[in-house]
Amino acid sequence: MAWVQYDDARIGWLDGDTIADVTDSDPVATRIARCPDPMIALIEAWDDDRRSVEAAVAAAPKVPATSVKLRAPIVRPTKIVGAPANYVKHQQEMKSPVSIAELGMFLKAPSSVIGPGDSIVLPFADRRTDHEGEVAIVIGRRCRNVAAEDAMPYVFAYTCCLDITVRGTEDRSTRKSYDTFAPIGPSLVMPSEIGDPEFLHLRCAVNGEVRQDESTSALIYSIPRLVEYTSAVMTLEPGDVIATGTPAGVGPLVPGDTVTVTVDRVGELTVDVVAGWDQS
Ligand code: MN
Repeated sequence: MAWVQYDDARIGWLDGDTIADVTDSDPVATRIARCPDPMIALIEAWDDDRRSVEAAVAAAPKVPATSVKLRAPIVRPTKIVGAPANYVKHQQEMKSPVSIAELGMFLKAPSSVIGPGDSIVLPFADRRTDHEGEVAIVIGRRCRNVAAEDAMPYVFAYTCCLDITVRGTEDRSTRKSYDTFAPIGPSLVMPSEIGDPEFLHLRCAVNGEVRQDESTSALIYSIPRLVEYTSAVMTLEPGDVIATGTPAGVGPLVPGDTVTVTVDRVGELTVDVVAGWDQS
């Protein structure tokens, strides 16, 4: 069971094959007008008045999940924060002398978000662009200076993501912010469904071949530590996305590829890859 965004800015609760459409319900609709993204309105409503949202789910019109086009669950987060070199084996494969402890976090443009079934557009025919399969968390409540031991109540949900990256010398914020470089989804799965986030298994496959296969237990900075570190720098807002870092096995994408990120208990996200240049 999880939250989804679909069709033209609809949001709902996905339970099995059915979506409860809460877009027009009281606790959500009144907030949508002043939020950049209807899912942010839902997250705020959940934090403010969970019982009303639960009542709205119970009373909502039900839609078959197969009849909708799923979008990214968050279309316009106020920010996407990324974790560089946060798995030792990935640090080693990149031959990086430093890890997240020395690098800190980076920002990825919110305009790079796409959703399930969308396409990654490769910007260069002559430069390597890699898949980085990752577990992402979504913030549920505005926060600043949160200690790691207090961090988990600020996590609204988990989702799959790809931190698509052009290799090269430019700053990460340039190489990771091209349009379509942040596929996320397919849904926002709440912590009650997940259990311990220190043991989430992540796989990333290209054309069915598994290239990345690792557990979040191998993270250098754990999920609570990432919230602590990031919130010591910037105020985290409802709907903000923290991509927790990619394990070893990153590799180049070419036009025609299909990429699937699977995270146990969180879901499976599939996107394809197209050329951003004229191939004729
Ligand atoms: Mn990454």
